[in-house]
Formats: sequence, C-alpha cells, structure tokens
Amino acid sequence: MNTPDLIYLDHAATTRTLPEAVRAMLPYFTEVYGNPSSAYGFSDRPREAAARARKQCADVIGADASEIFFTSGGTESDNWALTAAVLSGRGRRIITSAVEHPAVLRTCAFLEAHGARVTYLQPDREGFLSPEQVENALTPDTCLISVMTANNEIGTIEPIREIGALAKRHGILFHTDAVQAYCHIPIDVKRDHIGLMSVSGHKFGGPRGTGFLYIRKDVKIGALLHGGPQERNRRAGTENIPGIVGMGTAAELSASRLAENTGRERALRDRLVSRVLSEIPGASLNGPPVNGGQRLANNADFTFDGIRSDALLIRLDLQGICVSAGSACSTGALTPSHVLTAIGLTEEEARGSIRVSVGPENTMEEIDRTADALRENIQKMREMISSF
Ligand code: PLP
Repeated sequence: MNTPDLIYLDHAATTRTLPEAVRAMLPYFTEVYGNPSSAYGFSDRPREAAARARKQCADVIGADASEIFFTSGGTESDNWALTAAVLSGRGRRIITSAVEHPAVLRTCAFLEAHGARVTYLQPDREGFLSPEQVENALTPDTCLISVMTANNEIGTIEPIREIGALAKRHGILFHTDAVQAYCHIPIDVKRDHIGLMSVSGHKFGGPRGTGFLYIRKDVKIGALLHGGPQERNRRAGTENIPGIVGMGTAAELSASRLAENTGRERALRDRLVSRVLSEIPGASLNGPPVNGGQRLANNADFTFDGIRSDALLIRLDLQGICVSAGSACSTGALTPSHVLTAIGLTEEEARGSIRVSVGPENTMEEIDRTADALRENIQKMREMISSF
C-alpha cells in the first residue's frame, strides 16, 4: 500500500521496507539493544539475530553464512571489493565495464589516481558485454574482473556465469555488483563462479543503509574499515542489528516470492512498454527487448524524441507519478547518463530518457494512468515546443 494517489514506479532507486521486516526490526531498537560484542547474556539475542540473518542472506545465493559480511550497502561493498583486490598485491589492473554503477566507476577512478590500471569494456547496443571481450582484455597484471549482474538503468542481465567460468579458468578473482539482481533473478554463487558479490538491502524490501559483501571462503582480501573485531576482523564497527535483521527477513521473504513477484512485474512492465511504444510517436525502448529473458522483469527505459526528461519528470511529479531520469541533474545542467551514451545514444537522446521500474505492489490501473500521463504530457510538451 502506497501513499494515496502516489504512483511509485522507481523501485530500482529504492523499495518500501516490507512490513514483516519492519516488525522484525522493532525489538532490536527498544528491547534487545545490547551490543553484540558484549560478553553478558543481554547481548545473546542480538548476536543470535545477526547469525540468523546471515544465514537468511546466504541461503538466497547458495552461500555459506560464514561468507556473508554485513556492510552499509551496495556502495560500501563495491568500494571494499575493488580496493581490497588492488591492495591484495595480486596485480594492479581491474577489468570492468563502462556501464557499471558510479559506486564501481568512481572507485576505479580513485584507484587509478593511486596507481591502479583499469580497462573499461564497451557494451553492445543493448548493454551486453561478451565473455570473449572480457577474456581478450585479460593481462598478466589483472587482479580483478568486476562486471555487474544486472544494469540499474536499462535492466540488461549480463552473462555472469560465463564470465565467472572464464575468470576461474584464468585464476582471476571475479566480483559482481548484484545490487539490482539479488532477490530479483536467481543467483547461485557456486554455479556462477562468483568470488565477491555486492548486495544492498533496500533494493528488495530491506531497510536503506544495509547490505553485504559475499566473500567466497577461499578468497583472501583485507578489510576496508579498520577498528574493532566485528565481522571476523574484516569490517569494523558496531553492527546495525535492526538493519541486519530487517535485511535478513526481507531476503528470505523476497526470495520465496521471486517467481510470483517477477511474474507480476513482467505483466505490468510489458503493458507499459506496449502502450508507450504504440501510443507515443517518437518513443523507443532502450536496452534489451522485453521478451528475450535477458532483461530485469521490473525495468523499462524509454527515450522520447525532442523531450527533456527533467521537464517531463517535473510534470509527472506534479501528478504524483515517481519515475527517474536516465540522466543526472547536477548544478542545473542535465548530464547525460553514462550508460545510455555507452550503448550508443547521442547526448540529446540520453537527455530525453526516463527509467520506469515497477514493483509487485503496482497495479494495472497505475500503469494505465502512467501511460496516459506520459502520452498527454509529451503531446503538450511537443505542442509548446512547436509553438515557439
Ligand atoms: N550498484 C548498483 C547497480 C546500484 O543500482 C546501486 C544503487 O542504486 C548501488 C550499487 C549503490 O547501492 P547503495 O544505495 O546501497 O549504496
């Protein structure tokens, strides 16, 4: 249930915390608030709760609980994976892609400024990278391959199993940013040969500010945060037990509902795509086709010829519809999305793009109201432009 009259279609940005997760968290704020590092019995329950959540998070991906290291979210997990790989001394080159989230790309830029080398692979028109491309880029000094599981803007699901297999063949550590994929598509860390995986709690009904880094048992990487002995000496800082409990609860529930949720999301998304493409002249879909199975079920990303997405977003916002621009507005200028330009859109096309990401709670009526609003607003905007 959303705020009345609000149509929330930005689930890739964040999701409503599941009520079951909120209920599970509450006692850890007010009743069982002991520090899990303390020796007295009062801290037993928080300690046990963290252990339970660790297993809930691990079970979703076929991992062992001991391989889950709680963090503050996707950004921290990405920073940790990349920085620790370079500091491990196994080499100074990272192979990654031009369509990663800034949490990966900006960390790469930081590491480059400190002597690391980074290869940015260019995707094809739909956002796909090929395993051959990754293999051809390998150098003797490569310490890490980092390729996202699914793209946050255009929903492309990368061939991570094949990339994981080639990383294994070459004895190179493989990291994947699975922030948009965990609990949205099935992932098996063993089958997919994943060494490190970043996850964020708020993308699947857990609370914001929670996440974890999966670190396969045999992978030796150091800590990012130094201090106390928490997380087996690998991530210092008093644990966010309520958040961890909420994330564990959401992981278990969302994984158990994965097929049902994605079925609903696909039906909603497909209706929106079909209405937009058939009713709005000059509309196109960015990323893979919706019927090919290689695109997140909740994602649609459109370009509308001649339209500025920031102006469209304001109009939709005034009508209570939340979607996201494919481009970031910084200090008044609309910076075109690096993902859209990497897949070949011009800067102008990228500035006319919006991302719609549905959730299982959305209804067909909301989708129809959104399609109507898009059609009417775009028509009015074009009439205004042509009257100048
Ligand atoms: N990686 C991807 C692919 C994302 O979509 C996001 C957030 O949108 C992040 C990383 C960052 O996650 P967090 O918000 O938990 O720091």
